[in-house]
Amino acid sequence: MKMPKVIETYCPYCRGHTPHDVERVRKRKASELRAGQRRFRRVTSGYGGFPRPKPEGREKPTKRVALRYRCRTCKKAYPVPGIRARKFELTE
Ligand SMILES: [Zn+2]
Repeated sequence: MKMPKVIETYCPYCRGHTPHDVERVRKRKASELRAGQRRFRRVTSGYGGFPRPKPEGREKPTKRVALRYRCRTCKKAYPVPGIRARKFELTE
């Protein structure tokens, strides 16, 4: 689906409708200091393999796109429920 780069929506910080920049949330490298990453390193070390079962069945045809809205007035960003789409692009 196509989505505009700027949308007019409610800002919980300004408590009103303001223009927002739509940002795609990119996956960042897992920090080795995070609790989950430390647990993962501990669990996968030594004997016994991966802690989670292999995914079964087909792969889903659509992926959920992680989005973030950033208010142009207060510059604060907040996450929004992602949209499932086969293809996603931000348009002018
Ligand atoms: Zn705001």
